[in-house]
This record gives sequence, C-alpha cells and structure tokens, in this order.
Amino acid sequence: MTLDCVIIGGGPGGICAGIYAIRAGMKTLLVEKLGIGGQIAVSDLIENYPGFASVSGPELMGHFQNHAESVGLEVRYEDVTAIEMDGDMRIIRTASGEDIKTKTVIICSGAKPKRLGFPGEEEFVGRGVSNCATCDGAFYRGKPVVVIGGGDTAVKESIYLSRMVEKVYHVHRRDRFRAEKVLIDRIMARPNIEFLWKHTSKEVLGDEGGVTGLKVADENGAERDLEAHGVFVFVGIDPNTGFVECQKDGQGFIITNEKMETSIPGVFAAGDCRVTPLRQVATAVGDASIAATMAEEYVSALEGRSYENASKA
Ligand code: NAP
Repeated sequence: MTLDCVIIGGGPGGICAGIYAIRAGMKTLLVEKLGIGGQIAVSDLIENYPGFASVSGPELMGHFQNHAESVGLEVRYEDVTAIEMDGDMRIIRTASGEDIKTKTVIICSGAKPKRLGFPGEEEFVGRGVSNCATCDGAFYRGKPVVVIGGGDTAVKESIYLSRMVEKVYHVHRRDRFRAEKVLIDRIMARPNIEFLWKHTSKEVLGDEGGVTGLKVADENGAERDLEAHGVFVFVGIDPNTGFVECQKDGQGFIITNEKMETSIPGVFAAGDCRVTPLRQVATAVGDASIAATMAEEYVSALEGRSYENASKA
C-alpha cells in the first residue's frame, strides 16, 4: 500500500503529527525505533505544558498515546536507515529491509544526549555514568553523585537527584546556569548540592566495581577528586538525523522553513531534530501540527485537488 504520510519518531512531535495527519484524512503510519514517548518519557516532571500544571513524562506521554490510539494511528517498530526519492514517491529504507512507500514524510526523530568524551566516560556507561536521572538515580540513594552541565536538563535532573542521594556535586564550566529562571531558583534552594563553577571534567575514576569519583579541574587547572558513585552527564543533545540527506546545520539539526519543509520536497521536520530556538513539548507539537497540515496540502497539490484550485461561484 502507498501511504500519504509516514512520520518518523514517536515522541510528542511524532504523535501530534500523527493525530493531525489522520484527522486530515491521510493514510498515515508512524515508524518508531524503540518505544512511544521519546526523550520526554524519561522526564521526571513537566510543569510548562499548558493544561497540566505538573505531570510526569510517562503520564503525559500516556495521554498522547491514548489520543493517538483513539484516532487509529498505526505504529510500526522499525529502524529507519535512509529516505530516498523516486519521482513523487519517498522511499523509506529500514534496517529490517522492508521499504515503505509514501507521498510525504514528517521527521520527528528528536535527539539523544551528547557525550563529552573525557577518559572513562564511555567505559563506565551503565556502571555509574548515566544520561538519565529518572532511569538510574535510585541506584545511588544515600550516596554522593556528580551532575555535569548548565542547561535545563542538568538543572532539572540535579534537583531530582538531590531528593534521593546524599549529595550532588554540580559541575559547570561557567559561573552561572543557562537554565530557566524558575529552575535556577529551585536548585539554589537545595541544601545538599555543592556547585563547582568554572570547573571542567577530566576523568571518571573507578574500578571493576564501577564509578568511584570524578576528577575535575578549576579555571586555574587545580585538580580535585570528587567522591561519587554516579556521574550524570547533561551537556546538550545530538540530533537523530543521520538517515536523511537534507540541508542541516553544522551539528546535524535539520534546516526547515516556517512551513517545516526541509530541502527535500515532500519531506518535513518537526521538534528537537530541527534548527529551532526552543526545544519543549509545546514547541514540538506546534511544529508537528504545522508539518502535518503542510504535508496534507502537499498531497492535495500532488493529486490536483488543492483547495486553492476549487471552483468558486
Ligand atoms: P543545552 O541547553 O544545550 O545545555 C547544555 C549544557 O551543557 C550547557 O550548559 C553547556 O555549557 C554545557 N556543555 C556543552 N558542552 C560542554 C562541554 N564540552 N563541556 C562542559 N559543558 C558543556 O542542553 P539541554 O539542557 O540538554 O537542553 C536541550 C534543549 O532541551 C534546550 O532547548 C532546553 O531548553 C530543552 N529542555 C527543556 C526542558 C524544560 O523543562 N523546559 C527540560 C530539558 C530540556 P554552556 O552553557 O557553557 O554552553
């Protein structure tokens, strides 16, 4: 079967695009690699999505999923490896070898946590180095941990961890955070967080039992070993866009116009995977609703039934 619209990625943007695409009458399929929810599904608390004063990531995404199911959005679990052009058709290649033919594609593939690349970081992943406080925080109950980074993610996760661990050493390379003001106020009020401003991470310390600490250095190069059983790295995100060859910025984020069109006709992008000044659930769903509406217009034009061409009295 040839589809009208294939959405790649099952986070907030992908689910929203699916709901809009189905309601616009398009034959739609959502393709997801792992599980519905995306990065936000491992977020402890969301307090800035209108309608939900305070909601956990899994709960919010449960509502999204129920809504998608209620409109009949079909989901297939596949790893997309490439998008190719074939005349008016877009061919989606997958790791299983089963191609998917569609008129339009909406890329909502999001992003993954960035790594810093200092010694021990890779080696101790899963044995003390983590990018997810809600997934791994409980392992360090009553023990000291380190958090690295100064954005919304680092500050939020540091606050979350401070409620269960003995102490958080929060390491940031500047003398202030770039996070939202409300989060900064909250982290500053936590009694068991020690801030190491203008510090860089040098090496994860550990043995066969796992992480035992982190070597850091201050702006003058003076080193200090922090005792910690967990090292949580939140230094930004890398987009999941390697499977598509369209115009991107230097970091691989997809460049779109205000209609969410990429440089490939019929291929749209929405949410964290595209170049945007703000990455939130609210912006992902905003992008996605535009992308799905524009995808429907694209299909209508392709089939010669655009509203603009309809005859008037
Ligand atoms: P981010 O905003 O890009 O922050 C990354 C942090 O890591 C920055 O403080 C940066 O330092 C630091 N960093 C980057 N490279 C580093 C290096 N080589 N060494 C040391 N530190 C380094 O990333 P994010 O916090 O993951 O957020 C990603 C996006 O999601 C943002 O748009 C954010 O607003 C959004 N988000 C929103 C929420 C929310 O609740 N509203 C929650 C999570 C994420 P500098 O400051 O010096 O550059």
